[in-house]
Amino acid sequence: MSIESEVIWFDGEFVPFEKAQVHVLSHTLHYGLGAFEGIRAYEQPDGKAGIWALDAHIERFLLSIKMMRYESPFTADELREACLQVLERNNFTSAYIRPLAYLGHGTMGLGSRANDLHIAISAWNWGAYLGEDGVNNGIRVKTSSFTRNHPNSVLQRAKIVGHYVNSILARYEANDDGYDEALLLDQNGYVAEGTGENVFVAKGNVIMTPPVLNILPGITRNSVFEILRHEGHSVEEAVFARDAFYVADEAWMVGTAAEVTPVRELDHRTVGTGKPGPITKMLQEKYGQAVRGQLDYMHHHIGRR
Ligand code: PMP
Repeated sequence: MSIESEVIWFDGEFVPFEKAQVHVLSHTLHYGLGAFEGIRAYEQPDGKAGIWALDAHIERFLLSIKMMRYESPFTADELREACLQVLERNNFTSAYIRPLAYLGHGTMGLGSRANDLHIAISAWNWGAYLGEDGVNNGIRVKTSSFTRNHPNSVLQRAKIVGHYVNSILARYEANDDGYDEALLLDQNGYVAEGTGENVFVAKGNVIMTPPVLNILPGITRNSVFEILRHEGHSVEEAVFARDAFYVADEAWMVGTAAEVTPVRELDHRTVGTGKPGPITKMLQEKYGQAVRGQLDYMHHHIGRR
């Protein structure tokens, strides 16, 4: 699928796709300090675009920048407006939206704080992140040999560019070994998250997900909490090891790109029956309705005109 569009929002202006370029000496390109977001817009019942959880994504973006010890040159309102305009200018009714804050060029070295912070917002059409088959039948996952970033090495609450080296190493390994996705454990051996998703397991009446210790506080994770509670389920933030998947009735991964994706296997152990379970299927259905403006109690999360 192409990541092209007509225009990209770049530091407050719209520029043609091919003109949205950075200098090779951009600080972030060398050292990885930058912040980004992954947001999705979906077609609403009136045929127009609505951006799922726009406010929450902009808030996390600005907090990531704050944790980098930089200041955003744009306010939350300006960034929200820019996301809406990127869709309009490109005539997208559904799209993936990628805000990026990066340090430009001018000086080099790790201690340099003299480079300006730039913000670009791009959008493109993206299908099922872990594949259509994964959405329908579940994915096969492998526990990674890579440990999730230690909370004392990085700021896991922030969505920082350089954090994703850890995710890419894990994803390449899992894919090369024939799996769809990796499960990353923390430094104590407990379940953290996927390379770009938060994880849930369910057994009997108990639904668990790891607490925000060294995981990204996912916005889809919050949406799933809300749907679960509304549908009469309780969910616990709990510390657990990989074997919770081995004995689970169901397991699923969630994220803006992955949405709700069933996990059918971890490390050659079938999860539950090996088919998407009833809670997973309910969540896929309700989340799909919520983001498309078809679930009343979640309506307030949609950012639109
Ligand atoms: N964990 C990681 C490491 C991620 O990259 C993502 C995707 N942003 C998530 C979890 C899920 O977060 P969200 O639901 O906000 O997309």
